[in-house]
Amino acid sequence: MHKKLFIPGPTEVRPEMLKHMGTPMIGHRSKEFSQLLGEVTPKVQKLLYTKDHVFMSTSSSTGVMEGVVRNLVEKKVLACYCGAFSERWAEIAEANGKETDRLEVEWGRAILPEMVDEKLKKGGHETVIIVHNETSTGVMNPIREVAQMMKEKYPDVLLAVDAVSSMAGVKIDVDGWGLDVCLAGLQKAFALPPGLAVFSVSDRALEKAKKVPHRGYYFDFLVFRKYWDKVQTPTTPSIPHLFALNKQMDDMFREGLEQRFARHGQMAKVARDWGKKHFALYAQPGYESVTLTTYVNTREISVAGLNEELAKRGAVISNGYGKTKEKAFRIAHMGDTTLDELNELLGWIDEILGLS
Ligand code: PLP
Repeated sequence: MHKKLFIPGPTEVRPEMLKHMGTPMIGHRSKEFSQLLGEVTPKVQKLLYTKDHVFMSTSSSTGVMEGVVRNLVEKKVLACYCGAFSERWAEIAEANGKETDRLEVEWGRAILPEMVDEKLKKGGHETVIIVHNETSTGVMNPIREVAQMMKEKYPDVLLAVDAVSSMAGVKIDVDGWGLDVCLAGLQKAFALPPGLAVFSVSDRALEKAKKVPHRGYYFDFLVFRKYWDKVQTPTTPSIPHLFALNKQMDDMFREGLEQRFARHGQMAKVARDWGKKHFALYAQPGYESVTLTTYVNTREISVAGLNEELAKRGAVISNGYGKTKEKAFRIAHMGDTTLDELNELLGWIDEILGLS
């Protein structure tokens, strides 16, 4: 039996979308392909409220995260992190030989504008890299406020955001907030299989890239930009993903973006209320993620045991990530998951654990 995915990625994919992935293949240098890419790209721009270029990368999000440090940092970057995924971005920056100033906050805490300000005051940073939704801890950072502070005080410093587990689940106003890069993979709130990442790049970020040597090739933003004019991708892309994304975007607009974001908000509230009643929330109050909830395992339940029982009902949740493996567990409520499905899941957990 298939187990419905309530893990924070990959998320559940509707059978229609899997069918679209199986659309008969076309050549990536054909007119049909340019038509497809030319259709889907403005839809993602609309989702991100941006006029910036939006590129498609046939890679997981980590590839684009690497691209950010190779394109937007010549010498020094400020890497802000609050959990496992954002810490990896700091490691990526170091692995690429960039001077990496680290801003670390305790797991479960959020990164606040004044913390970023304190670091940027010292000067010399070209770019800030930061995660919007830290999938390990279930914390959503106040990116809009960080961006606002930077616009006022450090207008020349670029801001790149990992929105891997928030994009398409919550509103991200790329132009309004002033994000230079905003990136995500399709396997989270887009509710599509893993394998393609999308990312917006501002004009000033493209200008910056021109001055940075050794950008590599596969993730060189200027190569993506060059192929933009031909309405193509630099290399052979995952065409199946683009077929499905094109349809999925139509479905998102049919639901309505505001409605989609509101649905995510409603699910988050239910997931949090349930957690406060039976466990505790891992995230700092006020900064809880809208797309997943991380629970402190206050009852010391066996998450593996719970999952065994859930499997019989056709569902799976996630344990904690990294150092919180046994101490926490996570439930994703994003993508095409409905409030009814979430309520059903929580009902099963109540039944299995004998909660009332
Ligand atoms: N950033 C965040 C916030 C994530 O949740 C993940 C994966 O779960 C990544 C980055 C890395 O994504 P990928 O493994 O698809 O490269």
